[in-house]
Amino acid sequence: MNPVAEGRLDPSSPGGRPVFWAATGRSGGVSTGSFASLNLAGHVGDDPDCVAANFSALSSGFGGVGLAVLDACHGGEVAVVSAGGVYSGVDAMVSVTPGLGLVALAADCVPVVLADRQGTVIAAVHCGWKGLGAGVVSAAVSVMRAHGARGIRAVVGPSICASCYPVPLERVSLLRSAVHPVVAAAAIPTGVSPRINVSGGVVAQLSLLGIPASVVPGCTAELDSLFSYRRDGVTGRQGIAVRM
Ligand SMILES: [Zn+2]
Repeated sequence: MNPVAEGRLDPSSPGGRPVFWAATGRSGGVSTGSFASLNLAGHVGDDPDCVAANFSALSSGFGGVGLAVLDACHGGEVAVVSAGGVYSGVDAMVSVTPGLGLVALAADCVPVVLADRQGTVIAAVHCGWKGLGAGVVSAAVSVMRAHGARGIRAVVGPSICASCYPVPLERVSLLRSAVHPVVAAAAIPTGVSPRINVSGGVVAQLSLLGIPASVVPGCTAELDSLFSYRRDGVTGRQGIAVRM
């Protein structure tokens, strides 16, 4: 599946489980044309057989686990999942099930995975500017903590940078009114035409929650190795996956 980045989060003390994550790009799948090649979304017009084959490639490159996939809708809802499949109507999944992979898809929005320090609770989140305003990151963390997660860490996948994401002024105003001032300061650059740094906002939101984040570098709109909706319109979706 040729991940653009992958890693392992070791437990902080004996008895915990390691958590593995991988961020995919365009490389390593069987889709063609606009979806070449590792498109992971079934709703974008790609051949369903190719999408299924791409998920098989992701699974076999990711420990052979079953995969639960977010079919995101730019809201703030969280599902607790214990089986593979496509989950619609939510933008975050939380699981306590070892051997199940969670996958958040994106093509400019910010995909995030989270895990607690002992490898007992994981989450995958899809967050665009609407999700940031809707508090999806905080909602996912709340559900994780309700399931006992302590010492949560996050990995933020590649997304569009602020330079490539000019927006209507109204969108900036909406976001500013919806988030903590610290998040707004990180997400809304000053001294330039209206634009949004969603990834910066996500990292600031995580920091407010006491959660350190590492960010996979690279702008989706600038790198041909990544899918970008804003750049290409008709395109596929990459993902970030997490399992324990
Ligand atoms: Zn950019």
